[in-house]
Amino acid sequence: MTFSVHGLAVSRGIAIGRAVLVASSRADVAHYFIDDARTADEITRVRVSRNAVVEEITRLQQDLPKDAPHELGALLDVHLMLLQDEQLISGVKHWITDRHYNAEWALTTQYEIIARQFDDMEDEYLRERKADLEQVVERILRHMKGVASPVQPAGQAGAGRKLSEQDLLLDDTTDVPLVLVAHDISPADMLQFKQSLFAGFATDVGGKTSHTAIVARSMDIPAVVGARSASQLIKQDDWVIIDGDAGLLIVDPSPIILAEYGFKQRQGELERQRLNRLKNTPSLTIDGQRVELLANIEMPEDTAGAVAAGAVGVGLFRSEFLFMGRTGKLPDEEEQYQAYRKAIEGMHGLPVTIRTVDIGSDKPLDKLAGRAQDGQLNPALGLRAIRWSLADPPMFLTQLRAILRAAAHGQVNMLVPMLAHASEIRQTMSLIDHARVTLDNQGIPYGPVQLGAMIEIPAAALTLKLFLKYFDFLSIGTNDLIQYTLAIDRADEAVSHLYDPCHPAVLRLVADTIAECNAQGKGVSVCGEMAGDTAMTRLLLGLGLRSFSMHPSQILAVKQQILRADASKLQAWADQVLASEDPATLLQA
Ligand code: PEP
Ligand code: MG
Repeated sequence: MTFSVHGLAVSRGIAIGRAVLVASSRADVAHYFIDDARTADEITRVRVSRNAVVEEITRLQQDLPKDAPHELGALLDVHLMLLQDEQLISGVKHWITDRHYNAEWALTTQYEIIARQFDDMEDEYLRERKADLEQVVERILRHMKGVASPVQPAGQAGAGRKLSEQDLLLDDTTDVPLVLVAHDISPADMLQFKQSLFAGFATDVGGKTSHTAIVARSMDIPAVVGARSASQLIKQDDWVIIDGDAGLLIVDPSPIILAEYGFKQRQGELERQRLNRLKNTPSLTIDGQRVELLANIEMPEDTAGAVAAGAVGVGLFRSEFLFMGRTGKLPDEEEQYQAYRKAIEGMHGLPVTIRTVDIGSDKPLDKLAGRAQDGQLNPALGLRAIRWSLADPPMFLTQLRAILRAAAHGQVNMLVPMLAHASEIRQTMSLIDHARVTLDNQGIPYGPVQLGAMIEIPAAALTLKLFLKYFDFLSIGTNDLIQYTLAIDRADEAVSHLYDPCHPAVLRLVADTIAECNAQGKGVSVCGEMAGDTAMTRLLLGLGLRSFSMHPSQILAVKQQILRADASKLQAWADQVLASEDPATLLQA
């Protein structure tokens, strides 16, 4: 029966596909497709590992001391029974043979199905057997690590046979598009799915500018977050429509609904093709004002998309994505240098703004993005971004040296996130000097960099003169500026209705920052999601902004707004918007 689930629209477009439910804790399991010829090998991998676990448990049982509690023996019996469970075995085979999932993906998918059945059981004893099943699956997964897949690409989940455009159009049992449904996905895990294995995403939690949503947007794949209980209501393999424009999930759609959304999908595609024609059109307003359109990227490889969209540089390289999901082993200087250099070379001489690491809050190094972790009471207000960097000078110096060295290969700007205090600015400056001196002493070449600060804490926006004394340019991080001005956790769907980019206080801070930079002749850009929001383009132009940085997928739509705008006429209108009690209503007019 058709039903719908409402959430937040975070990445535009329509995806229609079968649901793949991924438990949050399982997002780091490899997900890739295998060829027909490999299915037998993958089934063997599971069988060999399962047999090894059976042997392991049988041995444990045999070695149990005579006086061991009876429960222990019974528990091992249960584990052995679960290992022989027909539903587990046949289910795994089904996912491998019929859907071409790799072994780990097949096993965890089938685990999810059986675990839900346990959840629904009346009998408490039986319900609790879910934990045993989890342990058994965990053991098999551990063993599978030692039984190498013949096809798993080194170090990169999701990079096996990817779904091609052609595949997405096919409607048979093996090549149907898949949409991922999860309670939550950390930004780092989201990055694993960047190989466009999935046609769409939906999560129970998350806000519009949570980093998971940002990464989904950067993939230009329809996504809905904050859909509350979607991962409970949707079952494995259900047909789901993800409407990334309306923030809606439609489960088990009727043929009429499917046809309607198929039509919308095609309309969206036509619109994209129309926008593509603007790629080589210069970004000028009607009155001839040039507007710089830059790209936000997460990984060096994203520069290809930036160039393809016609970006004139990278305005924000979120370097923290190089640090995440590595179980604490941070990238060393050489690895970082190579990554930054790759991004610089990928832009073929266009400028690249590398932001120093912004770890913390909803971008934890390893664990799932969440609220309070590691004993932190409130991570968004805790040891994040520059605070985290300044708390670990050797780590920070390593990054600074890597960026300075990469700057020898092209035009580089270095951007520092979340500064608020003069003391933080001075410490940062002295560490940059220190990094230069070290490189000088070692005779290692490095290049010049322009230094910039993110304006994303109200305190910074209120002390612009201090910032402009030290920095060459400013970049307004509206995502955090909104979060900290309005005291709304950007990742919390429960307060997402209060996350308002048009709040007069937010607009005032943005306007003052742009005006002060323009008055002093310093560069200023917006690199938060506001820059890629076409509803905000005219207002930002009216406030005097001439540099926008956003995901490549949004560049052409924003360019279209710029081409239609007369900047000279927008200034007076922007002043009215600023003075309004309810600016959003004026924007819609
Ligand atoms: C911002 O806060 O607006 C920003 C661009 O940085 P991030 O989204 O990575 O916090
Ligand atoms: Mg930020």
